[in-house]
Amino acid sequence: IERTFSIIKPDAVRRNLIGKIIAKFEENGLRPVAMKKIHMTREQAEGFYAVHKERPFFGELVEQMIASPVVVQVLEGEGAILKNREIMGATNPANAAEGTIRKEFALSVGENSVHGSDAPETAAQEIKYFFSDDEIV
Ligand code: ATP
Ligand code: MG
Repeated sequence: IERTFSIIKPDAVRRNLIGKIIAKFEENGLRPVAMKKIHMTREQAEGFYAVHKERPFFGELVEQMIASPVVVQVLEGEGAILKNREIMGATNPANAAEGTIRKEFALSVGENSVHGSDAPETAAQEIKYFFSDDEIV
């Protein structure tokens, strides 16, 4: 059984979509095994997105992530990493498939409602970045 890391981003939390997004995960066999609502610091957001620091959208990405609270979660299920990416849909909502979170809720490439780990190594790293072992139940 696999675990992945998820963020319900500020744009979605502000629009009261936490419940609808968690419902999508649960309906598709992903069980939240850890969750908390946090307001990320700039340092936390910059560290989390360090791989993107040379990209032109880095500044905008960090500003969006710290603008207001997010919900961070660990999701568990069969093939959780890939399954979560499928449920989220393409990064750009214009390319996201019908029924995906980004198709239904995302506003733009930047304000695209959710983050999900893209591989086993990043999942493990991102889970550790926000959760201690005793918070995962
Ligand atoms: P995430 O990592 O958030 O799950 P992703 O893996 O689909 O999304 P990445 O390429 O890792 O996309 O980009 C990380 C985030 O940076 C995206 O979710 C998006 O919010 C933002 N982003 C990516 N490309 C752009 C862009 N061209 N313009 C603005 N923001 C962007
Ligand atoms: Mg990514």
